[in-house]
Amino acid sequence: MSDLFTKLVTSPVARKVGVPQPTRLRRYEPGLPLCEGPVLVAGGGRFADGIASWLASVGVATVSTAADAGEKVGAVVLDLSTAVDPVELDRLRLLGAPAVKALRRNGRVVVIGTDPQSLTDVAEVTTQRALEGAVRSIGKELRTGATANLVLAQGDAHDGVRSAVEFFLSGRSAYVDGQVVRVDEATSGETDALRPLAGKVAVVTGAARGIGAEIARVLARDGATVVAVDIPGAGDALAAVANEVKGTALQLDVTDDEAGRRIVEHATSRHGSLDIVVHNAGITRDKLFVNMDEDRWRTVLEVNLRSILRMNEAILGDGGLADGGRIVCVASIAGIAGNRGQTNYGASKAGVIGLVSALSRQVADRGITVNAVAPGFIETEMTARIPFATREIGRRMNSLEQGGHPKDVAETIAWLAQPGTAAVTGQVVRVCGQSLLGA
Ligand code: NAD
Repeated sequence: MSDLFTKLVTSPVARKVGVPQPTRLRRYEPGLPLCEGPVLVAGGGRFADGIASWLASVGVATVSTAADAGEKVGAVVLDLSTAVDPVELDRLRLLGAPAVKALRRNGRVVVIGTDPQSLTDVAEVTTQRALEGAVRSIGKELRTGATANLVLAQGDAHDGVRSAVEFFLSGRSAYVDGQVVRVDEATSGETDALRPLAGKVAVVTGAARGIGAEIARVLARDGATVVAVDIPGAGDALAAVANEVKGTALQLDVTDDEAGRRIVEHATSRHGSLDIVVHNAGITRDKLFVNMDEDRWRTVLEVNLRSILRMNEAILGDGGLADGGRIVCVASIAGIAGNRGQTNYGASKAGVIGLVSALSRQVADRGITVNAVAPGFIETEMTARIPFATREIGRRMNSLEQGGHPKDVAETIAWLAQPGTAAVTGQVVRVCGQSLLGA
């Protein structure tokens, strides 16, 4: 979605007079190479060799120093997972600085560490925790659409590290920057690279427009059969999305007591199973806290939070979500940083983050993962309604200096929904271009 201001600052005249232009981000399209240019893999940790052989097996050239590349590199993967003393962090600088200098437009920096929560030795925890500060700072220094992210592994989380590195290298993570993803030792089989969700049945709430409609499109593109859910008032738009993705439409209000039962019944009777649930439906009813009335407060908490708790009871009950299933909730950076005029919304979205953390532990023995994405400023009808000055600040106050697209949120959800992402659970991935809010 493009408004008058965006049209002006990106016009040929504005370019000519030197108005800074946001870089066009490299976004995923099926069949495009994983990344452009060779990938520098170094660091000597316990995952580096495996990552280098996997990259070779998918046809991506690797080098071990920036000088070897003889050209600009598409990405840098630095494995510091075995560093146990802060002095070893110098490897990050020695290997990383020349490589970052040689990084292409839309390049990637991915650092692999060991999850400090899985360690006890004080020096080791200190060293591994330090990586977070370094990577987030690199993210803030990178320009021209490049991103930096950190993968923290527990034990020998080879499948989890591979899945997370693949996501961060690819155009799927175009608007994910300065993030930390933890991966556990869960294993996962091979997935079809082009249709990783083939054979899966996915339900997306709030799918009639905006981010939800794009989630439906991306999940369908990746092979899933999609049930698009929205309120009866959005019936025509919902039917259009369901037809477009060759799925089915289900009109319901997520706050309805029967919503969870109807979702399970529709998915299993019409499509044979329920494998993925994306709780995307959400609303805002902004007002300063001192003027917040009961209706605004209650409605936002009902739609954005309590409905998810209630629906999950039916979804996780007998005959509901299959073992190995995926639940992905849509939170917001307002739930992390708070936002003026959004005590109700901020509470609901922070609650979602709590829900994901607690529920993921309860359903782990069934192989079900529960995660959230927290979008920053995404160009939708919701953000188009924000007053002009606030909108411009929200759009530009991030390392990528632009708003994200609904597709960026959808791609992260699609990755979390993959069978190959079994090692990521109980987490919140921000899709915010490393927004300064709540950084
Ligand atoms: P949107 O308003 O464009 O779309 C929301 C959809 O949810 C609509 O189709 C609406 O009809 C549906 N919906 C609302 N109440 C419902 C109910 N009770 N039952 C069923 N469906 C219902 O919003 P969006 O920008 O696409 O946002 C989608 C999600 O992303 C929301 O959870 C929102 O809080 C979150 N989010 C958006 C942004 C952003 O920048 N747009 C940022 C952070 C988080």
